[in-house]
Amino acid sequence: MTHVALDRLLPEYVRKFTAYIPSKPDEELMKLYGCSRLFRLNNNENALGPPPAAQEVVRKYPPPRAAVYPSGDVYYLRYKLASLFGMDPNQFIVGNGANEVIGFVIKAFCEKGDNIVTADRTFAVYEWMAQFSGFEPRLAPLRDYAFDEEGLLARIDERTKILFLCNPNNPTGMYWNEEKLRGCLDRIQDRLIVVVDEAYCEFVEADDFPDGLALIREYPNVVVFRTFSKMYGLAGLRVGYLAGSPDVVDAIRRTCIVYSVNALAQEAALAALGDQEHIARTRIMVAEGKRFLKKEIARLGLPMIVGEGNFVMIKLPMSDALAYRKLMTEGVMVRAMTGFRVPNHIRVTVATMDAMQAFVQALKKVLESQVRSARALGSL
Ligand SMILES: *Cc1c(COP(=O)(O)O)cnc(C)c1O
Repeated sequence: MTHVALDRLLPEYVRKFTAYIPSKPDEELMKLYGCSRLFRLNNNENALGPPPAAQEVVRKYPPPRAAVYPSGDVYYLRYKLASLFGMDPNQFIVGNGANEVIGFVIKAFCEKGDNIVTADRTFAVYEWMAQFSGFEPRLAPLRDYAFDEEGLLARIDERTKILFLCNPNNPTGMYWNEEKLRGCLDRIQDRLIVVVDEAYCEFVEADDFPDGLALIREYPNVVVFRTFSKMYGLAGLRVGYLAGSPDVVDAIRRTCIVYSVNALAQEAALAALGDQEHIARTRIMVAEGKRFLKKEIARLGLPMIVGEGNFVMIKLPMSDALAYRKLMTEGVMVRAMTGFRVPNHIRVTVATMDAMQAFVQALKKVLESQVRSARALGSL
């Protein structure tokens, strides 16, 4: 076999980067852990699936259309977003999930020597994308599980191009209210781009939660991310978008790949957008699930962090990696948080009552087996 001179070819920041390992397909996991069904509570998906109209689009999609390229700039979806939010269609860029638009923004604004600022325990893709593109991610520790304004501002310098805020924050669910967000934007002024990632905004119950889209007019350096993966139940089709002021979006658009959002995804998202009944149903499910978990997890004596969004974080008296494996054998998949700098914690998606009951039951079993093995060790 010939050998590629990777040491010479690879930039140092790629050589040093460890690739993210996604989980195996459900079928493979079920074989591996010997379970006959699997509740997926690891990715904050919507257990109710997509809204009915989007389901209909997927069911009735004409197969021959698979041969035809989609709209390159996701025309109709951008027009519908614009009319729903009272903005211009040119203020939106739709991507292959919000994940893709993170890359668009970084590519548009960062050059050699630049950095980005965000929190140490938040959605990790901002940090990773900066790192493997050769830009320094500067991370401010959370304070009381929320983004810490002072810590973030202290890390900003003249080479900082983008501040990434996740509102509400994944994985802690904490959010900045309108006053807090405005205060920070006033201090930053137009020095850098402020991304407000609102992947979970449709789940938020608090009345003082800021609408990022409404702030763009006053703060033209704000870029908002949203997604169809969470509330709209379309994670498998990959649709997310960014919105900003026309000049900023014009600049970002130069770095976009057209045709990255497939035709079926565009139509399903168009049908899903703004379905208030679906949103209401999902919010009821999440509220019930959280109420149930609060009661049950308190009964187990475990600390739980409950904020906005369709997820909670639970602190365990054991390693989260071990808990993950044991829960898998019970047919429940959660997110182990050590890799995201929150050791001994798991993040659990709030889903149907069936799934929540299965989770609590499995967790009880795992904790009991932990107590038993601790006793056995103690008696040796
Ligand atoms: C899930 C998620 C996204 C990205 O979702 P896509 O599936 O790529 O649209 C972005 N930000 C946060 C905070 C998320 O939790």
